[in-house]
Amino acid sequence: MGKTEVQQDTYLVGLGVSPGIGIGRICLLNRLALVAEWSIDDDEIDAEVARFRAALSEAAEQLRAVKQNVASQQHLREHIYILDTHLLILEDELLIDHTEALIRQNHNAESALDQTLKQLRVMFENIEDDYLRERSSDLDAVGQRVQRILAGVRDATLEQIEEKSLVAAHDLSPADTMQLDKNKVVGFLTDRGGKTSHTAILARSLGIPAVVGLDSATAVVASEMPAIIDGTTGVVILNPSEDTFREYLKRKLAFEYLEKELSAYRDLPSETTDHVEVALRANLELLSEVPAALNDGAVGIGLYRTEFLYMNRTTPPDEEEQFKAYSEIVKCIAPHPVTIRTLDVGGDKFVQDVSLVHEDNPAMGLRAVRLSLRDVGLFKVQLRAILRASAVGQVRIMFPMISGVSEIRTCKRIVSSVKAELENEGIPFDDKLKIGIMIETPSAVMIASLLAREVDFFSIGTNDLIQYCLAVDRGNEHVAYLYEPMHPAILRALKQVCDAAQSAGIDVSICGEMASEPLYVPIMLGLGLSELSMNHACIPRVKRVLRNLTRAEGQILLEELLQLSTGKEISTQIDREMRRRLPELFGEFVI
Ligand code: PEP
Ligand code: MG
Repeated sequence: MGKTEVQQDTYLVGLGVSPGIGIGRICLLNRLALVAEWSIDDDEIDAEVARFRAALSEAAEQLRAVKQNVASQQHLREHIYILDTHLLILEDELLIDHTEALIRQNHNAESALDQTLKQLRVMFENIEDDYLRERSSDLDAVGQRVQRILAGVRDATLEQIEEKSLVAAHDLSPADTMQLDKNKVVGFLTDRGGKTSHTAILARSLGIPAVVGLDSATAVVASEMPAIIDGTTGVVILNPSEDTFREYLKRKLAFEYLEKELSAYRDLPSETTDHVEVALRANLELLSEVPAALNDGAVGIGLYRTEFLYMNRTTPPDEEEQFKAYSEIVKCIAPHPVTIRTLDVGGDKFVQDVSLVHEDNPAMGLRAVRLSLRDVGLFKVQLRAILRASAVGQVRIMFPMISGVSEIRTCKRIVSSVKAELENEGIPFDDKLKIGIMIETPSAVMIASLLAREVDFFSIGTNDLIQYCLAVDRGNEHVAYLYEPMHPAILRALKQVCDAAQSAGIDVSICGEMASEPLYVPIMLGLGLSELSMNHACIPRVKRVLRNLTRAEGQILLEELLQLSTGKEISTQIDREMRRRLPELFGEFVI
């Protein structure tokens, strides 16, 4: 389709990563420099290496300039680490040595760098963990910056963007995103990107609606084209008709009104109308998310995904570095608890001590706690750091992917031996620190009552539990239609786990994505949960629904839902019921 032939009301669907509606005109940014390829003579090699080195220096200078600019802006300061990551990539030995080796084989700098980046990208793409895999976008951003310099393309300042612009780009680097002026940019859309990319995280921080992962949108859109993006649903509408425009203007106003109203929920108690309290905690990936989590009213961290500390590096963080990171979070979140989950990765290229094995079925392979139990040395370093942080504030420790009682017993034995070591060394820790497990495997559900005797708490990881229970890969779009949180098997599994925990008198919560869905709040109440953990941005919405229901309403509705036979029937029923009970919350617009 030619760019001028885009019809009225052309819909594109990507991933909505930053909620809100943006209405404006497209500003197409071309951040990709074409990579020219030629071969160089032997006597040109040194000069070509020098040209490559000079481009790296200039890229570093550009990034330092952006950093200086960002440092003066309070709301962006917490993201400076992204620029530091990019500066570190520019110094990466693998990147530099590999590119220079190719130049010495008579490739020009542009193509040598391009080949190096392609190889590094393959390494990234083989990583199983979504977040770590998406870090390849940082590599791309840095690579493109250097390519632009090599090609002599001036780094276009994003300041020339006009008001009410919807920025469209193949990919936007975090550094680009940071420079977007919220007064002019009403949203952005990109071909690349995922929900956990830095760009997405930044868009949420900046409050700019964003849709990413559109695949080839930039091949279709043209500058000045009128468009609408819905960062909640991931819908982009090109050349909207007058009716569509009016409809989205209405939605935009409703969204903005709701946002204002939701900010009032931060300091309200999170309890039902009959005063049943449910602690709403945040899932945390990065230290930089802590202020936003507090701002959204999180009372503690229900899941800290520590694997993020291990990313973008060739050696794992040592005890001191981990201790600093954990204790910093614990101090910021005090007096509330921080639940630190031990390393949850598969064959991790960033951890040099852990040997890489090829696995045909990595989701069922050497991952999470299995990896920790295989490399007890690495595991102990993390446990020492967590235990030491427990002297600073309230810490809970949680093990991922537990599939049987022996595994948790082994983990507890190792915790005891680490405690004994610390005690001998006179290092303080909280001896009463609570130990819990993620419930993510069908076997853990089936033996929940046995596991409950072993630990202080359960946290149900529905993201994995659904994939393992229903045998549906959580990342495979071909079977995505089968990934049903409301499948009767999942409701039964949740009930079985909650009942087992409650009979044993231990705490239970849900920290998978399910916990953040406002529609499911009555189910959470029906299950008797008094703790949920979710993306911090979802806390006000969940709290709002919670404050409009009684626990008994949840119990009755859950009983009804458990009588139904299919996921579709259950979803329809809950949708209907919530619209009937709370039309002001589940009416016309998505909340
Ligand atoms: C889960 O599986 O639900 C979970 C919270 O863990 P993760 O998404 O990190 O696998
Ligand atoms: Mg999981």
